[in-house]
Amino acid sequence: MVVSGFSGVGKGTLMKCLTGRHSEYALSISATTRAPREGEEDGREYFFRTKEEFEDLIARDRLIEYACYCGNYYGTPRDYVEEQMACGRDVILEIELQGALEIRRQYPDALLLFVMPPDVRTLLTRLQGRGTESGDVIRARLHRAVEESAEVEKYDYIVVNDDLEQSAEEVHRLIVSQHSRVEHNAELIGEIRSELRLLAEETGA
Ligand code: ADP
Ligand code: 5GP
Repeated sequence: MVVSGFSGVGKGTLMKCLTGRHSEYALSISATTRAPREGEEDGREYFFRTKEEFEDLIARDRLIEYACYCGNYYGTPRDYVEEQMACGRDVILEIELQGALEIRRQYPDALLLFVMPPDVRTLLTRLQGRGTESGDVIRARLHRAVEESAEVEKYDYIVVNDDLEQSAEEVHRLIVSQHSRVEHNAELIGEIRSELRLLAEETGA
């Protein structure tokens, strides 16, 4: 599943809250060329890479998707996602719009969520309040948010990040309900169908 949203809406905070409450989710760690923020660690928030190292990952097909966002590369390492999916775990990618659309192309049944702020003033307060970007970077990210807002309808659901814990539970509920979709239960439906036929024969129905 994919989680996107405007810069500063609280995606990172929301994902930490969700995975803290529900350890069953596998949160992918992206590679990026942007500089670490204070408190961020290589291999925890991101794999921080140089432009050359990142381009080498692209050339060796080590990324499922990548995009350029406000002047930096961001991409999803392939190995972790494929390993976790092979184990049957729900993998969460916290990525921007272009990457989300690429994931939809490659995995048509991926769930795409877009995190919305309760209102735009709150978005600005959060983005400024984080205290990690200069005024120019904040303006560039808000400019990109205007563009991203034109494509929200390409997602499956929106989650309004007002109360953090309620929003995390809403994301959890959406993932759980996705498991009940008919197209994700083909094996179970097939088994019950053939067992039912046998049962009907056995009982002369
Ligand atoms: P994003 O990853 O979307 O860019 P962050 O997770 O870094 O955003 O959050 C931006 C700021 O907003 C942070 O200072 C964070 O503590 C704050 N924040 C996130 N979610 C909430 C919330 N539900 N209520 C209040 N503040 C929040
Ligand atoms: P930030 O610099 O605020 O951590 O992230 C900037 C943007 O890049 C956010 O919208 C975030 O979701 C997105 N992003 C983070 N990792 C990836 C990734 O692997 N691929 C893509 N396409 N976007 C990413």
